[in-house]
Formats: sequence, C-alpha cells, structure tokens
Amino acid sequence: MFNFWLAVCDGPRLARFTNKGVGVNSDNASVLSSPAASVLEAVQTSSTSYEDRLNAGRDRSGYASTTLPDGVVFAHSVDDVVRTVQLASANDVSLVTRGAGTGLAAGGVGQAGEVVLDVSSMNRILRIDPVEHLAVVEPGVLNGELNAAVAEHGLFYAPDPASTAICSIGGNVSTNAGGMRCAKYGVTREAVLALHVVLADGRELRTGRETLKGVAGYDLNALFTGSEGTLGIVVEATLRLRPLPTATATVAAFFPDFATAAQAASAVIAAQVQPSLLELMDGQTLEAVDSALGTDYRSRGGAFLLAQTDGYGAFLEQDVVLEAIEPLASSCEKAADSEHAEELVRARREAIPSLEQLGRVSIGDIAVPRGRLADAALGLGEISRTTGARIFTVAHASDGNLHPMIVMDEEDSVTEGPAKAALGEMFYLAKRLGGTLTGEHGVGLLKRDWLLPELGEVSLEVQHAIKDALDPKGILNPGKAI
Ligand SMILES: Cc1cc2nc3c(=O)[nH]c(=O)nc-3n(C[C@H](O)[C@H](O)[C@H](O)COP(=O)(O)OP(=O)(O)OC[C@H]3O[C@@H](n4cnc5c(N)ncnc54)[C@H](O)[C@@H]3O)c2cc1C
Repeated sequence: MFNFWLAVCDGPRLARFTNKGVGVNSDNASVLSSPAASVLEAVQTSSTSYEDRLNAGRDRSGYASTTLPDGVVFAHSVDDVVRTVQLASANDVSLVTRGAGTGLAAGGVGQAGEVVLDVSSMNRILRIDPVEHLAVVEPGVLNGELNAAVAEHGLFYAPDPASTAICSIGGNVSTNAGGMRCAKYGVTREAVLALHVVLADGRELRTGRETLKGVAGYDLNALFTGSEGTLGIVVEATLRLRPLPTATATVAAFFPDFATAAQAASAVIAAQVQPSLLELMDGQTLEAVDSALGTDYRSRGGAFLLAQTDGYGAFLEQDVVLEAIEPLASSCEKAADSEHAEELVRARREAIPSLEQLGRVSIGDIAVPRGRLADAALGLGEISRTTGARIFTVAHASDGNLHPMIVMDEEDSVTEGPAKAALGEMFYLAKRLGGTLTGEHGVGLLKRDWLLPELGEVSLEVQHAIKDALDPKGILNPGKAI
C-alpha cells in the first residue's frame, strides 16, 4: 500500500485526502501493476485516485486526454523531485511536470503510462531582495502572490499573464509566459536571472546568476525558459523585479469594428510611444464580458482598445496615444481614477473566463508584425466564415499577439472538426503575415502539426538533438513542444 496515507498533511492537502476518501479505487488495478507504481510508491505524497488522474489529464486548453495518467506525485521539496526523477529514469517511466494546470496548449497533461509530477505545493517565496531588485521563489508560487508580496517593497514582477491569480511561476518559466505589460517590460525570458533545474537523470543544474549582466557560457536560462517541461524540472527561479511605476494613465477607446481598432493599435506603435499595456477586444468578446460582469461596453462600439502608459511621463505619453487613436475611434475615455482603470483592465482579464461560460474554448495564440494587426483581424473573420468556427478575439496588441478563441459545444473536440481546421488556418494566416503560431502559450500537444512548417527541418533537428543530449531516455514530457 502506498505510504502517502501515512503522510503528515498540511491543511489543503488534508482536504484533498478527505475529499477522495482513504483507499485505492478499483479502476486502479492496472496502474498498481504498472512500472509507474514503483515511482508512486517511493515518494511520500502521491495519488492514484480517479479524481486526481482526471484532473492531471486536462488543462485549460479545452483538451482532455482520452486515457488517464497512471498517477500523480505531489512534490514538496527538491529532494522529492530528485527522487521521483531518479526512479522514473531507472524504471523508464515518463514524467509530465505540472504547475497550476492553467496551460493553454495541453503541455501539462498526462496520459496512460505516464506519471504527473505536480510541483504546485512547492510554493514558498524564499527571498525578496529590494536592493538588488530580485526574488527567489519555488515553482509553485502563483504569479499574483509574488506580485502582492513584492509590492510591499515598491517593486513588481513584470510578466503578467491574464491568469496571474491562478498560474504558477514554474509554469510561467516553462512556457515563457507573456501578458499585458510585456511589450514594455519583456516576457518571462527577460525576467529570469537564474534557475535551479532537476535534469532527466536526477542531477541538479544551476543556470544563470544573480547579477543583471553575465555572459559566461551558453545562455542556459534561455534554453530552459519556454522548454515546456521537456528538458528539466524547474525547482527554483531567481527573478528580476522592477520599481513600481510612479503613475499610470489609462484610456479606453471604442471603434466601429475590430479591424479599425487593430489599425488604431498599429497607429499607436507607429507613433513611437511605448504603452505599458495595449489590449484589443472584438465586439463579440465584449458582449460575453458584459453578460458575465454586468457591464455595458458593447453598447459603446464594435471593438475596444485599452491603453495604459506609466512612469514619470505617463500623462505626456497618454496624449501621444490619444492623438494616434482619436481619428479612428468612435469614442475615447480617460480613466477617472485607479478604480475606474482597474475596472477597464478587469474587463480584458475576464475575457477568457467570460467565454468559458458560453462553451468549451480553444485559444489560438498567433503573433504577427504589429503593423499587420488589421490584416490579421480581417483574416480571422474570413477563417470563421470558411471553417464555421465561432471565433472571438482579444489581443496583446503592443506585441502583435492575437488570441482568437474558438467557442465550441462541450462535446466538440479541439483536435478535429472546425476547431482543428480553424487552428490550422490561423497558423497559415500568421505565417503569410510574417508571424508565428504561438506568441506565448507554447506548442504543447496541440500545435505540433504546424511546427515543421514554422521552424524548418534544420531547426527542428537541432532542437531534437538538444532534447536527446539532456534527456536521452526521453522521459520528460514526451511528445510535447517539439
Ligand atoms: C484565463 C487564462 C488567461 C491566460 N492568459 C495568459 C496570458 O495572458 N499570457 C500567457 O502567457 N498565458 C496565459 N494563460 C496560459 C497559462 O496561464 C500560462 O501558460 C501559464 O504560464 C501556465 O502556468 P501553470 O502553472 O498553470 O502551468 P501548467 O499548465 O501546469 O504547465 C504548463 C507547461 O509548463 C510545464 N511546467 C509547469 N511547471 C513546470 C516546472 N516547474 N518545471 C518544468 N516544467 C513545468 C508543464 O509541463 C507544461 O508544459 C492563460 C490561461 C488562462 C486559463
């Protein structure tokens, strides 16, 4: 019998065990005799309950594995991770590392024959250094928790996915997550100073350094950032912080249609001003947000552009933004105060959860040159018409990163039918416009079909050679990312 029943549990963990009841489900018979059992038995906290395996077989992409992983290891320490990896390597068991499970590419989902290594309980902020502007954290710390903690020191952690309240730093590092203020402050890769990684054979690797500068050796921070759990398990991250801006100015503008709003966003970029946030939403998404939040944005226009400028020149820069968008906008309003600004930002943050109330959502993630946003908007309309997929779009416009979201019926699949066809067409649209199939969510399982046309044969061969060098047995997140 697994020794996890004897584990000393913390509060949340105790609730988890109490909910599922003590004992092993009858459908676990095959799991108990699989090679995975040797991995699951040897760590203090693991589970083969149907509920935990079901949860570990899906993420927020709309994808659900047709078979369930053999079990879930809940790591509480670096030693837990090392031991799990050593056993997995010795027994040729595949490991899928998982943070908060908010991924949108099915990168953190497990299936039969695999064990999911859940690191969400490694969630301590180990150090905040307000002088050096850095924080050292375990991988399970949530993005929003880190930002709340460092705000007390007058600092912020820049990468801010719309999922900030629910996604983990380990997941952010492993997907090279972006967010709303990344155009000004950079994506996760720009914020990672150093990593502590457990390799596929259990060795511990430290990459990078605490100094802002440092060029000794290859840039292994960059290699592991965005590697989607295929090269190693991030057990600690040293992250760059920045001083909180002295002021923030917010403006919301409404347009007759999405293509015009996209044109306005391109005009802002061409005006040589650097907003900290420049977000687009189309009319259908506005409607969904209105219905979820009880707001009435859709009545003001067929598309929405939200722009924030920050720092000492926030209001001067806001004037430049207004000058660029006013000729195209139906109406513009400046946020009266910080509460009003927060309301406007919330409307954008709630776009995905609002659409999830309409059905199953599959989220595209293309990025195009920023001057081609309007072409992308028109192209997406065309894809919706030709494939029959219902597409709702939001965009981090200052990065040229669009999220066309396909809303499906619950029984529809993201891996076939109109959704799959539309995802493919989106990629070819991005490619025609000089862009990419994924700006920030990663490839996971869902976008591998289009990787070869994007990267080309030589690049893909080099990537497989790196994977083989670091994980010769191919046990870390097999079949994902590359
Ligand atoms: C409502 C909503 C809004 C979102 N908005 C954004 C957005 O604006 N920008 C954006 O970039 N993303 C966004 N996302 C996607 C998602 O939140 C990010 O991809 C996030 O970085 C995933 O973090 P996670 O902890 O949930 O990772 P998981 O989903 O658990 O895992 C994601 C990937 O990282 C790997 N992984 C996780 N932890 C580790 C680790 N410690 N070591 C090695 N590999 C690991 C997994 O194997 C998997 O491949 C959004 C998601 C939702 C649901």
